[in-house]
Amino acid sequence: MKNIAVIGAGAMGNGIAHVFAQAGFKVQLIDTNQAALTTAIATISKNLERLVAKAQIEDSQKSQTLENISTFTSISEGVEYASLVIEAATENVDLKLEIFKQLDMACPEDTILATNTSSISITQLAAQTSRPDQVIGMHFMNPVPVMQLVEIITGYNTSNSVLDFIVNLSKKINKTAVVVKDYPGFVANRILMPMLNEAFETLYTGVAGVKEIDRVMKLGMRHPMGPLELADFIGLDVCLSILEVMHEGFKNPKYAPNPLLVNMVSAGKYGVKTGEGFYDYSKDRKAVNVASQFS
Ligand code: NAD
Repeated sequence: MKNIAVIGAGAMGNGIAHVFAQAGFKVQLIDTNQAALTTAIATISKNLERLVAKAQIEDSQKSQTLENISTFTSISEGVEYASLVIEAATENVDLKLEIFKQLDMACPEDTILATNTSSISITQLAAQTSRPDQVIGMHFMNPVPVMQLVEIITGYNTSNSVLDFIVNLSKKINKTAVVVKDYPGFVANRILMPMLNEAFETLYTGVAGVKEIDRVMKLGMRHPMGPLELADFIGLDVCLSILEVMHEGFKNPKYAPNPLLVNMVSAGKYGVKTGEGFYDYSKDRKAVNVASQFS
């Protein structure tokens, strides 16, 4: 396997492209938005520069990694020679269903189609294709170059040979694979998102402020980031989409997204990526008094 196509060059897509390119694979990074591709290459370059500064890689490895990545704005051009596609576009069911239809038409017959979705059914995405046995979840954690885990999700029809192949490939890029089944939110977000949603609820009902909630969880539970800080980092739009998929999938009110989260996403406050969420990233990361605005 030489060529790996990555669909979506956002927070996750650029990290996935980085780790595969650094491991020597040729990566075709595809995004319909040219600006996202430009930002992604700049981010990868900056992250590689940091590794050079820490003497973790040579300068020549940085150049080689960047040379291994080519960018495209159309799926049909970018996936032509791909042995594996990793879809990391926006967390939206209809968008991903459409992308999987397109991928099935554009990719060679034996290409494996993986998705980095946080919550959407692998089986449903696989059903859009003529190769459901070759569709699998490959859920990387953010930031991809740093985080050890890749949660591997088998769809109803995923073959054992595809599963073995993806587990071995994860080892080649120095990640640890944990294999789980295909139910909404899988394991990582099934456990994480209710905690984040409870932090939103705690803020929304005025129990404590942004900084206090984060401080309690950092100092009291030894979490490296507080839940509100983490939600901003993940993207509040992404958190909302995941909670909606889990709410719809389990038909259980415990997953209903908190109204404060819904309002913040409607107001375009997505967290780090838009410059403001629970914190304002333009002013030395000050906590925003969101509760007074929405509750
Ligand atoms: P993001 O918003 O940062 O980036 C999404 C990118 O997809 C954008 O650049 C957008 O232009 C692109 N895109 C949209 N439609 C496209 C199309 N038709 N073809 C090609 N590109 C398209 O999102 P993200 O945080 O990188 O999340 C991407 C995926 O990774 C989602 O499924 C998300 O659930 C999952 N994920 C996110 C995190 C996280 O912490 N943010 C962690 C694990 C998994």
